[in-house]
Amino acid sequence: MRKPFVAGNWKMNTDGNSSVSLAKAIACGSSNIVGRSVSVAVFPPFNYLTSVFKALNKSNIALGAQDFYFEPDGAFTGEISVAMLKDVGCNYALCGHSERRHVIGETDELINKKVDAAISGGILPILCVGELLDERKASQTNKVITRQIKKGLAGLNAEKISAVTIAYEPVWAIGTGLTATPQQAQDAHKLIRNLLAEIYEARLSEEIRILYGGSVKPENTAELMQQQDVDGVLVGGASLKADSFLSIIQAAV
Ligand code: PEP
Repeated sequence: MRKPFVAGNWKMNTDGNSSVSLAKAIACGSSNIVGRSVSVAVFPPFNYLTSVFKALNKSNIALGAQDFYFEPDGAFTGEISVAMLKDVGCNYALCGHSERRHVIGETDELINKKVDAAISGGILPILCVGELLDERKASQTNKVITRQIKKGLAGLNAEKISAVTIAYEPVWAIGTGLTATPQQAQDAHKLIRNLLAEIYEARLSEEIRILYGGSVKPENTAELMQQQDVDGVLVGGASLKADSFLSIIQAAV
């Protein structure tokens, strides 16, 4: 019912040439399945969005941004608006990635404004949530996820929420080589789906895709995807090599 979704977050990596060749290799190697059996999106750095958009050409791979600012325009030096993202061909944007929360210091309130602004401006937001290692050790995982979901989606009506994808990314698993066990991922995803059913309604909660992120590799994708509430993966490091990202796409179908 929910089509698998594989998203590649390139973070602050690649350059002009490598971003274009990576995009072309991914588009070429996945053309037989992307769109039909799986949704795929890549999230390059801002300055390569235009060239990656051209490189993706007529493929069904969507383009996304790693961040943006919620205001439509004005004196916000260094920031990028939703309309600017649309202008260069983006369909998606990450909101509240753990590196934005914990390195840059974004709050739940700011992330909520971004989710709302993305939807209003016609960009599909991927709201990222997930607990720190200390929070997991202190049995705070459910409390943290519940807060991030409730505050991140505050004020959004049912129509708006249907544009949202959620990504559960335990912070201790991002870029560390540690992956949540399939059961840990399923437990968190089930919690999120139950929260969505509680805030909105069961039917809507069944339609929203929930991705897992945190050291996803070709070897662990199939097992994660077998979990009932894991609808896809958000991939960092392993999305920077065409071979491994293509293997993850295949394993997600
Ligand atoms: C990410 O960037 O969202 C991520 C999960 O990174 P990695 O796959 O490298 O852990």
